[in-house]
Amino acid sequence: MDVDTVILGGGPVGCTLAFLLNDMGVSNAVIDRDLEPYGLPRAAVMDDEIQRVFHDHGFGDWLAGNTTALERADFVDQSGAVLIGTDMPPLGLQGVPPVVCHFQPDLDAMLRARARSGGSCTFWGRTAVDMGDRGDRVETLLDDGTTLTSRWFVGCDGASSWTRRQVGITLDDLRFDQEWLVVDVEVNEGSTVDLPLGVRQYCHADRPVTYVKCHDRHRRWEFQVQPDEDSAALNTPRGIWSLLEQWMTPQDGRLVRSAVYRFHAVVAPEMRRGNVFLAGDSAHQMPPFAGQGLNSGMRDAVNLSWKMSFVARGLAGDAIFDTYGAERIPHVTSTVAHAVDLGRLIDQLAGRASHGVDIESGYGGKRPAPFLEAGVVVPGDPRVGHQFWWRPEVSAALRTDCTTFVVVTNGPVDLSGSAHGIPLVNVVDPEATGGSFAVVVRPDRYVAAVAADEQELNDALASLEAVML
Ligand SMILES: Cc1cc2nc3c(=O)[nH]c(=O)nc-3n(C[C@H](O)[C@H](O)[C@H](O)COP(=O)(O)OP(=O)(O)OC[C@H]3O[C@@H](n4cnc5c(N)ncnc54)[C@H](O)[C@@H]3O)c2cc1C
Repeated sequence: MDVDTVILGGGPVGCTLAFLLNDMGVSNAVIDRDLEPYGLPRAAVMDDEIQRVFHDHGFGDWLAGNTTALERADFVDQSGAVLIGTDMPPLGLQGVPPVVCHFQPDLDAMLRARARSGGSCTFWGRTAVDMGDRGDRVETLLDDGTTLTSRWFVGCDGASSWTRRQVGITLDDLRFDQEWLVVDVEVNEGSTVDLPLGVRQYCHADRPVTYVKCHDRHRRWEFQVQPDEDSAALNTPRGIWSLLEQWMTPQDGRLVRSAVYRFHAVVAPEMRRGNVFLAGDSAHQMPPFAGQGLNSGMRDAVNLSWKMSFVARGLAGDAIFDTYGAERIPHVTSTVAHAVDLGRLIDQLAGRASHGVDIESGYGGKRPAPFLEAGVVVPGDPRVGHQFWWRPEVSAALRTDCTTFVVVTNGPVDLSGSAHGIPLVNVVDPEATGGSFAVVVRPDRYVAAVAADEQELNDALASLEAVML
């Protein structure tokens, strides 16, 4: 079988990549060894960037029915006093709530179905036993003897990635290693149990605890396992209810699932070897305190998909793939570092350790957000490398088949004479340019360049073309 892209791993990142590629006309096959999505507790929150992608690709109804906006996030001390925190506005810069909660098994199942209905060839219950990059193609052998030939291969095969080992990429360790017990509870219908509204980090000296008010009646607790404790004994109904007793009792709800994880922080120094790419947990893993593991993996999928679509249609050359790691590795390294600092901050504010983490790293603090520092961007303006703020006209122009960049200008401009090969659409929206002459927006909504006049715009487009072709 011949396809453009073979995706190993039909988890949430692999299936996100698959539906994006389908919507962009890039044929693909997805292989997963498991017949059903992973069942243990993991991701609970989705950020606004990924919600916006989901809205644009027709998942608005699913988001409306399967997510709940997060109302608040804070850190509290032993007495319940708030140390740092923030109330979430109903809508953020992307025209959606800044963060929503979901139930990951429902999300994963929906994504699998959507990949398949969108045109992906799916191989559930199968794995790869061999994969070879021949330069002009990748040959993949499945365990049932099927051979797949593709232009590209993407390893979305999770933390212990077979793909990563096949291409010999070793993860850099950012040094975090803690054992936590993660518990999902469903509170009873009509329950009056009094629980916090959003995400809360309990900075307790004896045991840091995370609480998340998840979608619908789902509630999440994460308990840090102490060095002298037996995590297997804690991870029993008796152990869990004794941990939960200061919040609720078995009369208030039921245990849904639980797992013990070692949270750690690792990032791949490369996300591409030839025609083979890594995305999601295969390339980076982080503690869950920032709720960014899956969001970051989906960002990989968004980044890679439009570049594959541009190359498949002859709108960009192979060189654009060098920008995948150049954009994603610094961004995700910064995200992982923040997640680690959040974890350390909990211990620090509990008086258990002194890590020197600035309290501004806490929820709602002033720590700067990561952005694209290099790649398909023209650095200079502070908006470059960040997501463009949501504007309906620009959204309409940024088509989901990813065939164009959008040049947002404060007045009419003639782009026809520009000596560049990037497909462009002009949207006149003076309010959106923030006083500049033009803002160039990439297919994935990141700001590629900001120009003060027509000459700067043409220079910026020429620079972008040089990186892409
Ligand atoms: C407690 C906890 C809380 C979290 N909370 C959040 C959160 O709130 N927000 C957030 O964004 N992230 C969160 N995360 C992280 C998030 O769950 C992961 O980053 C995400 O699930 C990774 O998705 P993935 O598709 O890359 O990998 P996976 O979900 O691991 O999927 C990999 C897939 O590949 C398949 N596979 C693996 N090897 C092979 C093989 N050799 N052949 C065939 N198939 C294979 C597997 O069966 C699996 O389906 C949390 C994680 C934990 C542990």
